[in-house]
Amino acid sequence: MRPTSLQKASTLKPSFEQGRRTTGLFLKGCDWIITQNADREVLRNSSVSIDESGTIRDMGITQGSGKDEVIDCRGKVLIPGLINAHTHLSMTLFRGYADDLELQQWLEKKIWPLEKRLTGEMCYYGALLGAMEMAGLRGILSYGMIDPSTQEGKERERKNSLKLLQQVRAMKSPRISFALGPHSPYTCSEETLLWCRKQAEKENVLVNIHIAETRGEQARFERDKKSREIDYLHKIGFLNDRVLAAHSVWLTKSEVKLYGKLGVRVAHCPVSNMKLAGGSVAPLPEMWEAGVRVGLGTDGPASNNSLDMFDTMKFCALAHKAHRWDPTAASAQKVLDMATIDGARAIGKEKEVGSIEKGTRADLVLVDLKEPNMMPIHGKETVISNLVYSASGYNVDTTIVDGKVLMKNRTYSRLDPAKIEEGVGASVRRLVH
Ligand SMILES: [Zn+2]
Repeated sequence: MRPTSLQKASTLKPSFEQGRRTTGLFLKGCDWIITQNADREVLRNSSVSIDESGTIRDMGITQGSGKDEVIDCRGKVLIPGLINAHTHLSMTLFRGYADDLELQQWLEKKIWPLEKRLTGEMCYYGALLGAMEMAGLRGILSYGMIDPSTQEGKERERKNSLKLLQQVRAMKSPRISFALGPHSPYTCSEETLLWCRKQAEKENVLVNIHIAETRGEQARFERDKKSREIDYLHKIGFLNDRVLAAHSVWLTKSEVKLYGKLGVRVAHCPVSNMKLAGGSVAPLPEMWEAGVRVGLGTDGPASNNSLDMFDTMKFCALAHKAHRWDPTAASAQKVLDMATIDGARAIGKEKEVGSIEKGTRADLVLVDLKEPNMMPIHGKETVISNLVYSASGYNVDTTIVDGKVLMKNRTYSRLDPAKIEEGVGASVRRLVH
């Protein structure tokens, strides 16, 4: 979200309710449950029972409480809600508007000029469209900070950032949290970056930033600052375990080790990196070796162009296999980990989400196994293989977030597609024409 949009956005009512469920939820007879627990257990013909507060109370051969709302899960696989570790939700409005360009041209000629014209209402409809595509919401929101040239402008950016933090806290929603959002080391000054670091410490939140995305960016940074991006960020004391670094493509082996040592988290966005032709593939195997927590992100819909995490899982696996000449690189299980439990680690929520276990929050997805692209199933490995290599978002039948059913049998329970289509159409007419 860009600065111009914040004030107006705050006057729009959030479209979700705060309330608890009045009954529990019983997911009955799933063909498969991919738990993603520590043993990566896969259950056959099992059920999950969820209490009124949205916590998983039991799973396996279980009955539920009798009063629970029941969802028949025959012919379906239940997986943890997929975690998109990096996106720009309102940029759905820019989908297909700026293709086949290099990052700097894409930003300067197309994206930033259009972002300047965004209003709060447009961002609202763009975000709803994204919500509809992803069909389920738990979010960490950031106010994207890019330093204006004046000191006064910089102060305003900081104020706006803290204002969003207050708004998020005032919602008292267990699903919505805040992270600082300095855009990058090449659009934010040292002063702004360190301000973010300090605020993150004070408010106990993450810092969401783009680092070392393209070769051109790294080269320009070295020319202007006489330093590599990571060296610079480390030297000024910015890097620590609160930093969630999107991309991180242009890292040397020692920089990856430094990430591991400092606990820097990564949101890997392979589709966006390939589409904008950043020049290489992020050193994922080295990141794993160094113990870096790596989640998977779609990036925004102007550089992907979808928000489909299934699609992104496949691209991720293929990119690393092709790049390393090694079909064992980024296996289906490992990529599913990135989209679930590893993603939860990357955003610091591994105790709440990312796996299906007793006591975790019920963020769940039911995928239909009766579609032609999900057949046949030779065993549990094929279920995972089909999810990563063959499924798309359109195989998703039901989504549950915090125990609340947001989509059931492909019908939205809280969003009105006709109204969103109308709002998006009106926004785009005002924006582009
Ligand atoms: Zn981004």
